[in-house]
Amino acid sequence: MKAITRRRVQEGSLQQAKISGTYPEWEREVAVGAPRFFREMFLGEKARKRSSPLSDRGIECDVGWRDILVRLAATLEPMGVYATQVKSKFAYLTVYLGGNQPPEVAAIMDAAVKESTKVCEKCGAPGRRYERTKRGPWMVAVCRLHLRLFEEHGWRMAPFPEDG
Ligand SMILES: [Zn+2]
Repeated sequence: MKAITRRRVQEGSLQQAKISGTYPEWEREVAVGAPRFFREMFLGEKARKRSSPLSDRGIECDVGWRDILVRLAATLEPMGVYATQVKSKFAYLTVYLGGNQPPEVAAIMDAAVKESTKVCEKCGAPGRRYERTKRGPWMVAVCRLHLRLFEEHGWRMAPFPEDG
């Protein structure tokens, strides 16, 4: 009985109140939707800094990958796995996990990573990965509109070769 009560409190509005103001709104919504997967985002202020990159800095990618992240969390949360870092790295979604990882987790992660290279990190529209051709390597997965915005700011971008 105790466990049920505790869980209800954890996943209810109290938890939402606890993290409000800490992370941007879309991150809070995603976290509250899968509070066990994003449990690092519900720590108290003191524990947050020394626990994990996720608890300290929140979700380190743009909102365009939100749906991928929501689906990933819904799939992995029941397996007892939780996130310790979520970020964009080389223009793909990178998620570091804690907890015991069943073998099927690797394939689930691979699918999410692959999907993220075809979705605009800025807005969620269909996209692809581009590489900056000047001033050192930098990559981003964007749609045509967001590519144009980069180019209007003077960036030269080329499609990432290995994506075809
Ligand atoms: Zn876009």
